[in-house]
Parts: sequence; C-alpha cells; structure tokens
Amino acid sequence: MTPAIYLVKGRDKSLRRRHPWVFSRGISKVEGEPELGQTVDVFADNGQWLAKAAYSPNSQIRARVWSFEKTNIDKAFFVKRIRDAQLMREEIIERDGLTGYRLIAAESDGLPGITIDKYQNFLVCQLLSAGAEFNKQTLVEALLEVFPEANIYERSDVAVRKKEGLPESTGVLHGEMPPKSVVIEENGVKISVDIVGGHKTGFYLDQRDSRLQSMKYVKNKDVLNCFSYTGGFGLYALKGGAKRVINADVSQPALDTAKFNAELNEFDISKKRGVFLNADVFKLLREYRDQGTKFDVVIMDPPKFAESKAQLNGACRGYKDINMLAMQILNPGGTLLTYSCSGLMDQVLFQKIIADAAVDANRQVKFVERFEQAADHPTDTAYPEGFYLKGFACKVL
Ligand code: SAH
Repeated sequence: MTPAIYLVKGRDKSLRRRHPWVFSRGISKVEGEPELGQTVDVFADNGQWLAKAAYSPNSQIRARVWSFEKTNIDKAFFVKRIRDAQLMREEIIERDGLTGYRLIAAESDGLPGITIDKYQNFLVCQLLSAGAEFNKQTLVEALLEVFPEANIYERSDVAVRKKEGLPESTGVLHGEMPPKSVVIEENGVKISVDIVGGHKTGFYLDQRDSRLQSMKYVKNKDVLNCFSYTGGFGLYALKGGAKRVINADVSQPALDTAKFNAELNEFDISKKRGVFLNADVFKLLREYRDQGTKFDVVIMDPPKFAESKAQLNGACRGYKDINMLAMQILNPGGTLLTYSCSGLMDQVLFQKIIADAAVDANRQVKFVERFEQAADHPTDTAYPEGFYLKGFACKVL
C-alpha cells in the first residue's frame, strides 16, 4: 500500500490551487512508513484524495507534489513531463538559436527539486529534493527516451541538499564525461561552458534575455561589467559595438573563460577594448569613485545575496551599496543595468533599494526598462516563487 499523509483542517487550500508544497506543520498524520523521497498519497482532513507527492522527513517542506492526478510516478510520468517542458520551449529555442537552455525548471515544470540544463547533447541535472534523488534512475531512463543521444551528468553539489537529508553528489549518470569546454550558442553568441567545474550547472542561462536587451544601451559606450563570470553581458556588449568593456570578477577561471569566449566569437579585444579584471567589485567600485573614473554603462549582476529571510536585511544593504557606487561612477545620462536573483527580494523591494541608492548617490535616476528571467525559466501560475530574477535599466542624471 502507498504510504499516505493527512493534512490539518484548512491546510488543503494551497494544494487545491495546485501549489506543490506541503509544510510539516500542515500535516496531522502520516500513515505507513514512507522512506526518504518515497511517493505518498496526500489526503485532506476529510479523507478526500488530493495529490501524489514525494515525502521528505527532514525538510520543513515535508512533501512536494508530483501530480494532482491519480497517476503512477514512473518512467512514463517523467517522460510526459520532459516532453511537455521541451514542447513549451521549442519556439524559444528556434527564435533565439539556442544550443544551451534550461530544459526543466523544477516546480515550474511540474518536477519539484529537479533542474536540468541542456548544453548541446549534455544534460546536466541538479537534484535538490529527496523525491528527485529517490527517482534518479527513473529520471535518467526517461531523459534517454526523449533524448536518446544525450550524455547525462549530475551537479548536485549544493548545500541545500542537507535540508533534505541528502549528501552532495556529482558524476556521470549516463554516457560520456563532459569535456572541459562545451560550446553553446545563444542569439548568435558562442559561449564555452565548463559543466564539471563551472558555477551551478556551468552557465547562467537565466540572464539570456537581459543580455540581449542590454545590447541596445552599449554602442560606442565605455562599459563596466561587474560580476562578469564567463563574460555573459560583456560578450553581448562587444557584439553590440561597445567602445570598451571591463569585465570584473573574483574568479580567475571564469575570467579566463571570458577571454576565451571573446576570442571564440572573434570580437576585437585588442588595445584594451576587452579587459578581464580579477577584482572584488565592492573594492573596485570604491577605487573608481575615489579616482574619479567614469563609465557610460555599468552592469551589475551580483550573486544571490539572500539565501534565507534572516539574510534579507543584510542583502538589502549589499544591493544598495553596490548600486549607489555604480550610480556615482556613471557619466550624466549613463545607464545602470542592475539585477537581483534573490527570490526573497521581490521587484517592489528591489525598486525601493534602487531608489534608496539614488538618494545616497545624490543622483536623479529614472527607471526606463524592466527585465525578468529568460523564457526557458518560466513561472507556473500556481507557483509564484518561480519568479526570482528581476532587473532594471536606469538612466542616471
Ligand atoms: N553576469 C553573469 C553571471 C554572474 S554570477 C552572466 O551573465 O553569466 C556572479 C559572479 O559574481 C560569479 O562569477 C562570482 O565569481 C562573482 N563574484 C562573487 N562575489 C564577487 C565579488 N565580491 N567581486 C567580484 N565578483 C564576485
């Protein structure tokens, strides 16, 4: 018999709206002895069947829903979810000329805890939940049914796995070991991805749309690309005809790849048109300000500052600080392209922080455009948490 969980009275509301999480405090009874990640039936307090979910005894999110239909959670289930995800992305893949994209965006694609990025014929999986781990082999089989030629690699080396009671895990799940460089293309830009050693699954696919939109601000401009990683925005700036691009990051391997990427695209980086600077952005911005060095465009795409609610206040100060400094080093009429990938910080709060930064920088700042995560990182209507990346183009006077 399938183990089951029963919800506290009134705690079925979010599930009826198809939100996929069941919190520990919402559960009144567990029937049977579900293993870590095993599939359980979810019932309302009145005994009505609601969903099939993965049980996670160590997490506050005690169960994550696989399906609101009475289906088996087997290979056919995963094949259907993967085919659906691929189907909704086909238009985007074609339009943007993608050979690298997010195939599965976890909860937003009906597969809680499962992120899969596709770089050429390498599928890179990040499995964050107990249910994802429990079904790993079935998932691999399902992926191979949809993509028979694929190599599958796991990059579950993330600390949040601890909350689910899982150790970190990396390695080949099927086929070949990824080479040091897999070259993908987006919007006509070539990017080398290090699947094994890069950040996350190797690349920040989520900023693709913003990178494209940034191009219209850079022609003949002096651009500072803060937190550049492997070039990202900087490559688009070179393509968009920037006069000069300084890419700044603390990771030397990322900067080496950024330079390699510029060469791969045959962008002219001679005479310091492309600079790859190993520097702490917080310090670098202060140095530029104190020296009076100015730019026409500053791109500000920092890592996630807030991992938990407890960190949100500190994160706000961090965002305000770097954005204030960016404003101070912009020429009048310059453009600040600024982003936050902290899901806990919503768009309204981020807008307020930019407003506070403008006060502290003593500059007049106008929002002229808004950005979101790329279209292969969708947000399911039932799962607003899937919207995490936001950005603004600001004119600074
Ligand atoms: N804009 C990039 C993604 C940025 S990810 C793109 O489009 O691909 C964030 C980057 O910030 C990482 O490369 C990380 O190495 C870098 N980083 C983190 N803290 C930093 C700091 N204090 N100074 C400079 N770079 C930093």
